[in-house]
Amino acid sequence: MKAEIIAVGTELLLGQVVNTNATFLSEQLASLGIEVYYQTVVGDNPKRLEGLLKLAETRSDLIILCGGLGPTEDDLTKEVVAQHLGESLIQNTEGYKKLLAFFETTQRKMTENNLQQSQIIEGGIPLPNRTGLALGTYYQTEQHAYLLLPGPPSELKPMFVEQARPLLEEKFPSKEKLISKVLRFYGIGESRLVTELKDLIATQINPTIAPYAKPNEVTLRLTVKTKDVHAGNQALQALEEKIQARVGEYFYGYGDNYSLAQAVVDLLKEKGKTVTVAESLTAGAFQSALGDIPGVSTVFSGGFVTYSAETKAKMLGIEPELLEEYGTVSEECAKQMALQARKIVGSDYSVAFTGVAGPDELEGQPAGTVWIAISSEDEVTAKLYHFTKDRSAIRYSAVMQGFDLLRKQLLRKK
Ligand code: ATP
Ligand code: MG
Repeated sequence: MKAEIIAVGTELLLGQVVNTNATFLSEQLASLGIEVYYQTVVGDNPKRLEGLLKLAETRSDLIILCGGLGPTEDDLTKEVVAQHLGESLIQNTEGYKKLLAFFETTQRKMTENNLQQSQIIEGGIPLPNRTGLALGTYYQTEQHAYLLLPGPPSELKPMFVEQARPLLEEKFPSKEKLISKVLRFYGIGESRLVTELKDLIATQINPTIAPYAKPNEVTLRLTVKTKDVHAGNQALQALEEKIQARVGEYFYGYGDNYSLAQAVVDLLKEKGKTVTVAESLTAGAFQSALGDIPGVSTVFSGGFVTYSAETKAKMLGIEPELLEEYGTVSEECAKQMALQARKIVGSDYSVAFTGVAGPDELEGQPAGTVWIAISSEDEVTAKLYHFTKDRSAIRYSAVMQGFDLLRKQLLRKK
């Protein structure tokens, strides 16, 4: 089963929109065991789209088109494909009802061209659009299958997962499936991780190990191709155990979307503990990352952004004498910020950041010098870091390191 993806839209060719639909669809198809051999982008031009369809038919079984199902002039995918197949476009009753209901509830006037959205290619299977109005179509001939999907990712994704995917699974049952698992690491660089696992990476064919580095983080994607899901999962498990035995101390969680902040919030919830934060150079970035996690309010009730010495005194009650004696970028200042924040808020833990974001040095200390303190019921500790690169990287590194310190502290405590 060979598939290809055709993204339709001049905005893609102009570089105004990134072709994320192709990425999403390729990943989905791989997990269905359908191989994608080509991805192309074509503008809103009937002749060139028609040409591409002819070419695709010479080399692919399944042709997936995305974009151009809407009501405007340039939305021509459905028409071009229908014409190419010698079919006409027909109104789909369900889609039409939904269209009418939409214009009624929103009290907007429906124009003639809106009717296009509830049309499908005659002889095809309509794919309802849960998050929009334009219907998708699945159409099959003896040699080829065609799948027409809407352009907006917010419509394409649910339509593919909920409608098209089950349909493809039914029409093209695959013998082999891809199962993968993502392991996330913090505190170890990509090159070191790869060195530690060198022999495993070199010899593993199925499952495979693919490292991927992001700023301050590395992930490993383990992928197995299998006919037997149970055996595939066992193979992944066995491989993971070997990896954990070598670099497990840096591992913090699973999945594409898991984050260090999420890991910390999960641990706080699990242990029934709360945290507050006092930030200087990070200016709220740590708290903002906490705010990204749904349900964080049960473990985080608020914190401080104290950028200047004055505000450190006003909000946290930090004595000016302490800053004069040790400086703002100091172990003493970091510890005091953590202690005071915890005391004022009454939380179980606190994290404090003070340092030099750069580019200029501060108090004779170079950019990247950062103290991070953690305070809990029975102790306060602070660590010194020397982060590199530019201002935003330094601030981001500090935030990530703060999460890692807190996570480790939480893991140590019962
Ligand atoms: P609409 O009914 O909204 O017009 P449509 O099916 O006609 O939907 P397009 O007009 O082609 O889709 O694209 C609508 C928007 O969807 C684009 O402006 C763009 O933001 C997004 N989009 C289109 N194609 C892609 C793509 N391949 N990857 C990511 N986003 C896309
Ligand atoms: Mg459109």
